[in-house]
Amino acid sequence: MSKRSLDNNKDDSKIPAKEPKKHWSLGLVESMEDPKLIYKETKNLVVIRDKYPKAKIHFLVLPRDDISSISKLNKSHLNLLDEFGLLLKTIKEEHDCELRAGFHAVPSMHRLHMHVISTDMNSPCLKTKVHWNSFTTGFFILYEDIFKKLTEDGFIQKISNETHKSLMSTPLKCNQCSYEPKNMPQLKQHLLTHIK
Ligand code: AMP
Ligand code: ZN
Repeated sequence: MSKRSLDNNKDDSKIPAKEPKKHWSLGLVESMEDPKLIYKETKNLVVIRDKYPKAKIHFLVLPRDDISSISKLNKSHLNLLDEFGLLLKTIKEEHDCELRAGFHAVPSMHRLHMHVISTDMNSPCLKTKVHWNSFTTGFFILYEDIFKKLTEDGFIQKISNETHKSLMSTPLKCNQCSYEPKNMPQLKQHLLTHIK
């Protein structure tokens, strides 16, 4: 059989069309539709489990509207932010551990997302000083502070590169006592002593 007739016999209709690979930073938008990750949904918001949780409990709350990050928020979003607060209250009622809610000052992933995370910070996915400092320094802007800033100023001020660098290089300190570990392995070992 000639090469040409072989080619003609190909039935391309049976080959599934390859989806173009999406950029990693769009992963949350995909996860919002993954039933295995969805914890709770409302008309305007979706709560998913963080795929790489940095504590025993780690959720992300995202709007269905395509708002890319906190820097896009204005006063017209205050009602939506209120809904974040109501959902947070429900999530807190469903858990008997201490939960903190906030936004990273410089998020790495697209789509506005509020972290809801337990204070144990006990997780194999929590590995680096950057991970630690992104949840335990001013880089983690509490939900209440975002709400207050938006109400008062109507926007969320971006932090400078210098502030970003200095927050990330803050010396390690336990989030539950005054212990100052020398490194991450020491910190992770120490965190176990706080587990009841
Ligand atoms: P941020 O630095 O605020 O942008 O944090 C993004 C969060 O999304 C991190 O806590 C990641 O562990 C989490 N994450 C990354 N990729 C995914 C994904 N595909 N689905 C769910 N969570 C993810
Ligand atoms: Zn401690």
